[in-house]
Amino acid sequence: MKLISHWINGSENKGTGARRGEVYNPAIGQQIAEVAFAEDTDIAVAVKAAQAAFPAWKETSLAKRSSIMFRFRELLEQRKGELAEIITTEHGKVISDALGEINRGLEVVDFACGLPHLLKGEYSENASTSIDVYSMKQPLGVVGIISPFNFPAMVPMWFFPVAIAAGNTVVVKPSEKDPSSAMWTAALLKEAGLPDGVFNVVHGDKVAVDGLLNPSLVKSISFVGSTPIAQYIYETSAKNGKRVQALGGAKNHMLVLPDADLDLVADSAVNAGFGSAGERCMAISVVVAVEPVADSLIAKIKERMATIKVGDGRRSCDMGPLVTKQHRDKVASYIDIAKQDGASIVVDGRDVNPDGDANGYWLGPTLIDKVPTSSKVYQEEIFGPVLSVVRVKSYEEGLQLINSSQFGNGTAIFTNDGGAARRFQHEVEVGMIGINVPIPVPVAYFSFGGWKHSLFGDSRAHGEEGFRFFTQTKVVTSRWLDPSHGGINLGFPQN
Ligand code: NAD
Repeated sequence: MKLISHWINGSENKGTGARRGEVYNPAIGQQIAEVAFAEDTDIAVAVKAAQAAFPAWKETSLAKRSSIMFRFRELLEQRKGELAEIITTEHGKVISDALGEINRGLEVVDFACGLPHLLKGEYSENASTSIDVYSMKQPLGVVGIISPFNFPAMVPMWFFPVAIAAGNTVVVKPSEKDPSSAMWTAALLKEAGLPDGVFNVVHGDKVAVDGLLNPSLVKSISFVGSTPIAQYIYETSAKNGKRVQALGGAKNHMLVLPDADLDLVADSAVNAGFGSAGERCMAISVVVAVEPVADSLIAKIKERMATIKVGDGRRSCDMGPLVTKQHRDKVASYIDIAKQDGASIVVDGRDVNPDGDANGYWLGPTLIDKVPTSSKVYQEEIFGPVLSVVRVKSYEEGLQLINSSQFGNGTAIFTNDGGAARRFQHEVEVGMIGINVPIPVPVAYFSFGGWKHSLFGDSRAHGEEGFRFFTQTKVVTSRWLDPSHGGINLGFPQN
């Protein structure tokens, strides 16, 4: 069985621990590799390599850093097909969607190529008489990135291009379910000229994560994953004196007003609900239909669902399998819960006939109407191809529903009424909002992050907030002696 090693100081490293994880191809339901699980000693070795690389990388000129970023960008653009194959093999999403996630990650690399501009400080001449004040941004040191299974290439790319551009060195802990993307990326960064030790990868489970949270190792943690774990990461990292941004789970609502274009809404609900088999933190999982639109909207969604081809992502299909058997079974179990809770199952994805191996972890698109808001199906993040419909009588009732969710990652409103959309963007308590756009993932030069239990910490990913997160600011107050001086004055200089 192929072993996926760690990547430390510019090369593969099997680590010291005996524990291994199993990596599957979910489209065939078979183990295809095992992955080394890091113990504390491996984490310490990786962090030490990153610490050793830090002084030289910090002193590397902005021009040199940006030329490496540009080279990485070019190589990634040329060879992204290889990475897409890796993603599809371990995650299951279809190749076009794997390419889509790489392209969204590439956007962050593009953005980070502008590092000389983004790292500029400020300068005020004569803040007080003959006194100048200026600020500069310096890197933190070794930073830790912990990522989820659902975007094995893009989510690490939300962080590491910015962290490296800012002069930090990095230790990434990818999901143990699809660990190969990070290894491929590490080799490509080396090829682009990144010095050894600047980018390291350790694999593993909670042991590896807890190792990174150790007070004396990395300076900051950027985490993306499910909410209970994000909260734990946030609290533990903060207690251990680290800077932390922990992006958590989601339950994204699409509010449909009666004046909306129902064909556009149906297309959007299907694309956003079932793309990547619903394993996206920005997937739409609840359609909130303001009556009287629900019946005709459901008919249109159902019609479109019948055209979705489920199967092996390497074939020409629209939707692949779920990531593991356990996850597939858990997602499918919500269909029974919905029935027990009195909802009506419009399309049951368990009846799917996939174009793929019988052992794959299949679940077809599922549509559930009249989901009671007291049901677990409404309350919990399902993270699969299950779209719920909740019927409401008014905009106000829909808004109240969205605002009472524990999550606040993404939401969308569909309407042709500009006034209603404007009111929604102002009143809704969610971090990322789409207006007639179902998956409003901000472009890289804005920042990505939700509200409430979808983000713990103060900084979102990439954009200017990303550069702020990965740097610390110094402010210098300076006076060069000239023949005059103000004499003794025990107050603050003010003018
Ligand atoms: P997960 O929380 O199970 O795992 C995320 C990371 O945490 C992985 O690297 C994993 O190894 C590690 N981990 C797992 N259990 C742990 C534990 N007990 N203690 C410490 N670390 C642990 O998440 P997942 O299933 O890989 O990914 C799906 C989740 O990620 C969903 O909840 C989804 O909404 C969320 N997500 C959120 C965003 C966002 O931007 N808010 C983006 C992508 C995914």
